[in-house]
Amino acid sequence: MEQFQRRPSVEISDEKRAIAVGIAVEAHSLGLCTVHNQLFASAGMPAAAYELARTLVAEASPRVMFFKRDLHALKDLIRRVIAEQPTACPCCEAATIGGRFTATGRHEIPAVATTSG
Ligand SMILES: [Zn+2]
Repeated sequence: MEQFQRRPSVEISDEKRAIAVGIAVEAHSLGLCTVHNQLFASAGMPAAAYELARTLVAEASPRVMFFKRDLHALKDLIRRVIAEQPTACPCCEAATIGGRFTATGRHEIPAVATTSG
């Protein structure tokens, strides 16, 4: 087992973040644009990721050992990593609707009505 470096509690380790992202992707709460290799929050549905997290913690899966079976902490981090992502791949959006980026790096999607034909 790797030595785990202690850090201030406010800082989230890359390991934990990677685990949360991995769970969110596996549960399809985060989508991955295969063209741009860009994560995005698909339909803003974290429930599936929470459910997967609950299962992994209940099974004491090695994947969630960093969280020490703390489901609340895991779900909180999943919520945060999902909230950090744009709601769609920024590269695809920029190419299609000429969207712009905010100062925080999040992509703002203009409210455009879809018209058929
Ligand atoms: Zn894309």
